[in-house]
Amino acid sequence: HWNFAAGPATIPLAVLEQVREELPDWHGAGCGVMEMSHRGKIYTGIYEQVVADLRKLMDIPEDYAILFLQGGATLQFSQIPMNILDGGSADYLTTGAWSEKAVKAGQRLYGDAIREAGTSAASAFTRLVDPATMTLNPKAKYLHFCSNETIGGVEVFDLKQLGGAVQKDVPLVADMSSNILSRPINVRDYGLIYAGAQKNIGPAGVTLVIVRKDLLGKASKAIPALMDYAEQEKNTSMLNTPPTFGIYMSGLVFQWLLKQGGLPAIAKINEAKAELLYKTIDGSGGFYTNNIATDCRSQMNVPFTLKDKALDPIFLEESDKAGLLALKGHKLVGGMRASIYNAMPLAGVQALVAFMNDFMRRHG
Ligand code: PLP
Repeated sequence: HWNFAAGPATIPLAVLEQVREELPDWHGAGCGVMEMSHRGKIYTGIYEQVVADLRKLMDIPEDYAILFLQGGATLQFSQIPMNILDGGSADYLTTGAWSEKAVKAGQRLYGDAIREAGTSAASAFTRLVDPATMTLNPKAKYLHFCSNETIGGVEVFDLKQLGGAVQKDVPLVADMSSNILSRPINVRDYGLIYAGAQKNIGPAGVTLVIVRKDLLGKASKAIPALMDYAEQEKNTSMLNTPPTFGIYMSGLVFQWLLKQGGLPAIAKINEAKAELLYKTIDGSGGFYTNNIATDCRSQMNVPFTLKDKALDPIFLEESDKAGLLALKGHKLVGGMRASIYNAMPLAGVQALVAFMNDFMRRHG
């Protein structure tokens, strides 16, 4: 079976097998990671390795804190302004459902201080924001954007695509939930990067925040200590019991990536997968359609519609029977969506493409 779910998504099989092996007894510890104290020597060692492996994988400089938190990327929509809005105002770019939620969550707490500085809503979120239409505040405390819209299938590949929104003195804050670790990025370009784990990192329940340390310590005192990045940083993300098992599994995924040659190696595979799928869609003579502008077509989430909507349930039933799981599109977009994160090998996309071509032959 190949699992094309958008998240929680497929985990590399080699990692699952290692977890099964280590589940009842981690390297002779006498118990599994799920059952050991988060303050004990063994778990502390595991945690340090996880952080070191991620630092290596993403080449995260020492002046950035790595936090493993809870509450998902959704809580970050609120926690980010709580920590770094610092009585000022922030600019947001809206390119789809997720960045829109970030604006709404921020405005719920801080009203007009959360400014939508640009939107691609007029294009039905089929492209990035046209830089000519942005209304930017050069004094913004940060600029928020979503580097990959999981539902719409729009991805930022190069910060140049954000035009003037990239300003030297305005930290960039990026929701990378659905494309983190899919290719190398320059962490130094960002003030803060965050992601829910359940696509490219590990099991749901872990939230990753990578934040430049000079942005810490500005949180409002009216928030719980648990939500204060500086407090979490001081306490190695262990103010309370962390999601130990999820963090351990995330670490196994980091090692799986490192073993393959890190992010440059996985990026090549991801490019090949996306290229094959888009080529199949574009070459179908309109039987399949993806209407996202070509410069921002997501390499992780590929939505597509069928020419004849009446075929949707048949496509889903037949693909499921063929072992191609979870291809139903998000209700906001309709049609199909194939999520092809790091754990999906090229062979999975080849199987999907073979099915799509066969389906078209029979129903086209
Ligand atoms: N941001 C993006 C881009 C997402 O894809 C998702 C979830 O799918 C979220 C935020 C919300 O993440 P969570 O469910 O971890 O709160």
